[in-house]
Amino acid sequence: MIPAQFDYVRPGTLDETLRILKDREGEAKLLSGGYSLIPLIKLRLAQPALLVDLRDITGLDGISETDDELRIGARATHRQVHDDAIVQDHYPALIDLTGVIGDPQVRNWGTIGGSVAHADPASDWPAMLLAVNATIVCRGQSGERLIKSRDFFLDTFETAIEPTEVLTEIRIRARPKGAGGAYTKLERKVGDFATVGSAVIVQLAPDGRIDSAGVGLTAVAETPFAATDAEEILKGEQPSEELFRRAGDAAGAQARPAGDVRGPIEYKRAMAAEMTVRSLRSAVARALSYT
Ligand SMILES: Cc1cc2nc3c(=O)[nH]c(=O)nc-3n(C[C@H](O)[C@H](O)[C@H](O)COP(=O)(O)OP(=O)(O)OC[C@H]3O[C@@H](n4cnc5c(N)ncnc54)[C@H](O)[C@@H]3O)c2cc1C
Repeated sequence: MIPAQFDYVRPGTLDETLRILKDREGEAKLLSGGYSLIPLIKLRLAQPALLVDLRDITGLDGISETDDELRIGARATHRQVHDDAIVQDHYPALIDLTGVIGDPQVRNWGTIGGSVAHADPASDWPAMLLAVNATIVCRGQSGERLIKSRDFFLDTFETAIEPTEVLTEIRIRARPKGAGGAYTKLERKVGDFATVGSAVIVQLAPDGRIDSAGVGLTAVAETPFAATDAEEILKGEQPSEELFRRAGDAAGAQARPAGDVRGPIEYKRAMAAEMTVRSLRSAVARALSYT
């Protein structure tokens, strides 16, 4: 497919980028990995007059840990997150997730910021960011705005980012002792988008009860969402198969899937429940071994 004509710029700094976004408000689109935007442009489903390529801006792809937070730059690729030493040592849920996004080529080019800003209702990152209550950092000309993940995904392909802002960083609370997480994705074949994806984070109290839990689901509603009914069921309870099943069923019941080539509505609800049960088992096992 041949895209419509567009202008292209590669600013060297974030300030320059923000200036361009302001000057060309409504006409410009940021380009990160290009793995969602370029196909849309080629299909002429998006026709921006200007592409603003972020690749020359330094400092947008770092991954670091402070005492409180894991910070992932918006331009970090899925592969970079997967291969990062801090992530490898402490965040197995992110390893689960970054290992199953698309295929190796997608993971080498696609970025966390692009994925989150694009807000495809079946993308993997948003489920995890909802489960961990991540903070999404956006920069505009008037400064930085911190948006909680649960206020960020507004609708299908719609987020709280303003067209004059750049998403710069994702912040996730540093993993405390007794915390564990997991991501389980059901896909028709390797490399496919999710039929259902379930992200779970649990924090265990010293007596083994679940102090708090985060559950994020993707591909089973018009936008990824937090399965708050399941979270409530888990809170304060001793982990057990019976509890996991009840929480999974609540997650499935809260889903609002559409029937499509990946299956009918009832199947998707059942799979949302099952993937949540599997993530819970794994998250609790990891929490128990992280003391
Ligand atoms: C064959 C294929 C399979 C895929 N499979 C999966 C999958 O299984 N799971 C999954 O989750 N994803 C999948 N993807 C999508 C992939 O993960 C993309 O990389 C991702 O969705 C977009 O990231 P990007 O860096 O390529 O963003 P781009 O395509 O460059 O941009 C996407 C959108 O985000 C905006 N944007 C980008 N960066 C910023 C920023 N810093 N601030 C504000 N706005 C920004 C752009 O303007 C654009 O609107 C797949 C893609 C392909 C082509």
